[in-house]
Amino acid sequence: MPDRLDRYRAKRSAGSTPEPFGTEAGAAARPRLFVVQKHAARRLHWDFRLELHGTLRSWAVPRGPSADPAEKRLAVEVEDHPVEYADFEGVIPEGNYGAGAVIVWDRGAWTPVEDPDEGLEKGKLLFDLAGYKLRGRWQLVRTKKKGQAVSKDWLLIKKPDAWSRVGEGGGYGQESVLSGLELEQLAEGSSREAEVLAELERLGAPRRPVDPMKTELMLAEVGEQPFSGPGWLFELKYDGYRVLAARTGGRALLRYRHGNDASPLYPEVARAASALPYAQLVMDGE
Ligand code: MN
Repeated sequence: MPDRLDRYRAKRSAGSTPEPFGTEAGAAARPRLFVVQKHAARRLHWDFRLELHGTLRSWAVPRGPSADPAEKRLAVEVEDHPVEYADFEGVIPEGNYGAGAVIVWDRGAWTPVEDPDEGLEKGKLLFDLAGYKLRGRWQLVRTKKKGQAVSKDWLLIKKPDAWSRVGEGGGYGQESVLSGLELEQLAEGSSREAEVLAELERLGAPRRPVDPMKTELMLAEVGEQPFSGPGWLFELKYDGYRVLAARTGGRALLRYRHGNDASPLYPEVARAASALPYAQLVMDGE
């Protein structure tokens, strides 16, 4: 990932990054992607990113967003990131810029309330968020510093509405919205995979490539008697689609029972499967 970022930066500074949306007159109300990545770099922070003109405008928020309108959180403007970076969850290796674990702490759509270019220019950006955690109206306000033409310091502020919460520190859950893992658990992810592999080895599990396109789903069969047993858990049947979720070569695949690719229809589920801390996996579920 850092490589990709470097390439992107080089391309951008060479001025060759395309602007897919061109001029956006009248497009102020179109929802766009936002993502918040919690990042254990040298200092822990939350990277708050808003998609605009084909790139992610970014701010580093040392204390993270707060649902309490009275808690104005410092948000330091940092470099733009490529839109594809919004899916990145993993560990940036030592020796690279921003080395440390990253989780996708929240993600969703943002809708500017006023013209976003004007807002960024004048230092007051009002917008709505529809994420898993962050919702309702928010504002970014640039602070003014004496003797400095344009400050990099902004404040991220929750506006009072049905989604704001006064007191209790205005905190949110700390888990990833993709994998459900907390930052520390993700950082330990590689040891988790090693544990599972060691256990499989101990049990003498057969070693062979598992092709998700050829793996049969487990199907119900007729029995003489209802049964129960350790290792079994029973629940009501919820209606849904039976899929096999696989991850191989860093790419997630969702496959219906008869082989068709369901990934484009359920990008959120595919993202979740690709965020689990295992290089290769096949899951059968509904
Ligand atoms: Mn960061």
